[in-house]
Amino acid sequence: MFGPPCSRTTRPAIGKLPEMNPSDALVTPQQVDIVYETDQPVTYEVVDAVAWIMMNRPGFNNAQNGQMTYALDDAFQRATADDAVRCIVLGGNGKHFSAGHDIGTPGRDLHQPFENRLMVPGHVNKPAAELLYTREKEQYVGMCRRWRDVAKPTIAMVQGACVAGGLMLAWVCDLIVASDDAFFQDPVNRMGIPGVEYFAHAYELPPRIAKEFLLLGERMSAQRAEQFGMVNKIVSRDELRPTVTAMAAKLVAQPRLGNWLTKQAINHVEELMGKRNAMEAQYHMHHFAHAQNDLVQGSSIAGLDAKAMAEANKKQAGE
Ligand code: ZN
Repeated sequence: MFGPPCSRTTRPAIGKLPEMNPSDALVTPQQVDIVYETDQPVTYEVVDAVAWIMMNRPGFNNAQNGQMTYALDDAFQRATADDAVRCIVLGGNGKHFSAGHDIGTPGRDLHQPFENRLMVPGHVNKPAAELLYTREKEQYVGMCRRWRDVAKPTIAMVQGACVAGGLMLAWVCDLIVASDDAFFQDPVNRMGIPGVEYFAHAYELPPRIAKEFLLLGERMSAQRAEQFGMVNKIVSRDELRPTVTAMAAKLVAQPRLGNWLTKQAINHVEELMGKRNAMEAQYHMHHFAHAQNDLVQGSSIAGLDAKAMAEANKKQAGE
């Protein structure tokens, strides 16, 4: 009891840090020219207690870059914090809801650092496969889960293409209303990748249909998606916004806490069905595939840029 208050014997001597593993060496971030066509990749408007969050890169079919991801997160946070907002709509300006993650516009910002929102370190100085693993944990799967858990009811308003990364944005919403010309597609098996990062495919669709959806990577019409319960309602494009407005007005009129508890109750059922665990398992397969592509072809997306993917998708659809 008269001994030293604490022993120093278990601490490493100062100046004798363990030797760094070569895999821990940070790299110089790649300098890539990024040209943002807008400083407003997302617009935000509140009308009658409904926050309308609209992706706003219509010239690039609302391809989702980091700039847009953080703007979306800002918008969801703003809508969450504003007590005057009781329902959130997520849509896309222009012809299409979203063509997916940005893999080829001048605003592609893979090597751009952002202020991270999750407990994930920055990605741009990480070596090899760690860079993409870190980035997608923060910007894709992490953000999507965060938006799914927003404490207010959300509606996705989908027209035209809802492809790959676009699926993730529609799927995180509680309800999906689609125009009759909308279609859904996850063609990343073409890159040797087993589906996009937010792996909800087998929860949105029956397992055998999810296999077909991913293995063939073909477009699924809104009508077929509705048969499987992936879409709540289909209307003409002209009726899309009025229909969503009416649905949102009904949600606004429901009790605030009731809306929150109800969506949580259903989300919890999905968790009991293993959704998060399934996603965690697939995330690592997804990144094994990115790494394999990089090792074999020097490109984590198998050298397929947005143009090549769009052309292959159109060819497959007979356009
Ligand atoms: Zn990925």
